[in-house]
Amino acid sequence: MSEAALKVLKEVFGHAGFRGAQADIVQHVAGGGDALVLMPTGGGKSLCYQVPALLRSGTAVVVSPLIALMQDQVAAMTQLGVRAAFLNSTLDLEQVREVERSLLDGTLDLLYVAPERLNTPRCLDLLSHIRPALFAIDEAHCVAQWGHDFRPEYLQLSVLHERFPDVPRIALTATADPATRDEIIDRLALHDARVFVSSFDRPNIRYTIVDKDDARKQLLRFIRTEHPDDAGIVYCLSRKKVDETAEWLVAQGLKALPYHAGMDAATRAAHQARFQREEGLIVVATIAFGMGIDKPDVRFVAHLDLPRSIEGYYQETGRAGRDGGAADAWMAYGLADVVQQRRFIDQSEGSEAFRRISGSKLDALLGLCETAQCRRVHLLAYFGEEGAPCGNCDNCLSPPETWDASVASQKALSAIYRTGQRFGAGHLIDVLRGKDGERIRQWAHDQLSVYGIGKAEDEHHWRSVFRQLVALGLARVDHESYGALVLTEAARPVLRGERTVMMRRIPERTKEAARRTRSPSPVSMEGVDANLLAALKAWRLEEARTQSVPAYVILHDSTLVELARQRPDDLEGLADIPGFGARKVERYGDALVELLGGFGG
Ligand code: ADP
Ligand code: ZN
Repeated sequence: MSEAALKVLKEVFGHAGFRGAQADIVQHVAGGGDALVLMPTGGGKSLCYQVPALLRSGTAVVVSPLIALMQDQVAAMTQLGVRAAFLNSTLDLEQVREVERSLLDGTLDLLYVAPERLNTPRCLDLLSHIRPALFAIDEAHCVAQWGHDFRPEYLQLSVLHERFPDVPRIALTATADPATRDEIIDRLALHDARVFVSSFDRPNIRYTIVDKDDARKQLLRFIRTEHPDDAGIVYCLSRKKVDETAEWLVAQGLKALPYHAGMDAATRAAHQARFQREEGLIVVATIAFGMGIDKPDVRFVAHLDLPRSIEGYYQETGRAGRDGGAADAWMAYGLADVVQQRRFIDQSEGSEAFRRISGSKLDALLGLCETAQCRRVHLLAYFGEEGAPCGNCDNCLSPPETWDASVASQKALSAIYRTGQRFGAGHLIDVLRGKDGERIRQWAHDQLSVYGIGKAEDEHHWRSVFRQLVALGLARVDHESYGALVLTEAARPVLRGERTVMMRRIPERTKEAARRTRSPSPVSMEGVDANLLAALKAWRLEEARTQSVPAYVILHDSTLVELARQRPDDLEGLADIPGFGARKVERYGDALVELLGGFGG
């Protein structure tokens, strides 16, 4: 690795070393090569173009669709002493002229541009009067036409290669699948680019999938015990549920805001901006709340409804813990979720092929929900990566028992069959448990041989059995008859006693234990005075307010924690703390040394 790159990394960004593939990428791009970078969220993509931008002469041009974030990105760069500006539709003409002037004067290191702006003749002409240091194409998967973030303006970015063949280009994305990768290479003419694929593991995220019981209460308990003052995202499927859940959380005394496509644009933007800037805010959202979130300190992502696929789940949960600190991906999942998702698929307008693909994606996700193995191993395997059990997911921390559910399955499947394959799980459970009631009598279900054969177990047990039967493909949900459970071909050998069925069960005991024992988080709090940390946060909040930038732009949480632990008593000591570049030491050093010194020992 070149000395110069390390020097920039240390002096400007305050980091001691590069992570993973960063060093290779920086060297390659700084040397004039094209690159395609596939790295998970939080992997550290930004440095891959920011460091070469400072190493090469001229202005680096960063194309990004995330207009709402550009101001904060520029603010963060300015804090580091990097000369940065942006061009997008939020600027008035005078502001645009000013940016253009600095660009032509050669006084900018970095220029962020919205793609629709870059494609204009005015902008391309402007760029031809300077020599761009490099082009960085962020969120490069936006060029993929069948992807969910497709932006038509991205297709035109191939013009960069045609107009500026000698300027190195680096395209970056956190979307992992090979099809998208190929499409990016094709559409952006990156055939000669070196491709850097990082592991998509996010070791600091703890995955937990719980059986849905009373989802809201479970969520509240999770937030109160694990993340009482933290920023987080709660995903729901419908707008109505988003509104209701946000309202409910507020009624429980939490700071929560709704976000969905049914709200007017201004309110939506306001809620996103508050999430980005305030601390400890929860946003309850549909998946419309997605790409535009660049907040590094989201401590949890919770799913109250099942996503549609593992890709979706991974992308959504990936928004947690970008700063590398401990974070949670928590989901409550039950049979009703499976019923709902299957209905979406069955009732969708799509072609037969589309429905088949959606169905198998859902099956893959159910496999993740029902696995007794390490969640991370399962997730990474889906993306083609191998790994060892992680020790940081619910299944690793409190391994579920598997039990021989063959007899229970026979009972449940018989109940479906004997009642004519016309009833949902609720009624079937009543039949099995020998409950009395109007519906039971109306259908004379108390006369059936299966009536009461499941008395020994409680409702919770049977709900879990039916859910797993569906997940295992032994029963399926029939939407023609309002969510009734019907048998599949695969049920036959089970009913005949020719096939063993294994199911998972989480023992109550370990459920409790798992909640109480947090594994050591990547950011250890050992030797950190909580009062001092609070004082540092208060100082940061004040700075952030005065400068009207998000708090993390001033200093990251992990930097504050290190400050509180190491308590440097001079500027030199301060410069050794990760996250302190020369400019930040200069700007905040005296105030911080004084604050730390005044805090006693
Ligand atoms: P991405 O864009 O891939 O989601 P970012 O570029 O936002 O990730 O980086 C995620 C976090 O990791 C940021 O807080 C950043 O400061 C930090 N980071 C990145 N590279 C390094 C490094 N080499 N050393 C220390 N921290 C780093
Ligand atoms: Zn694990």
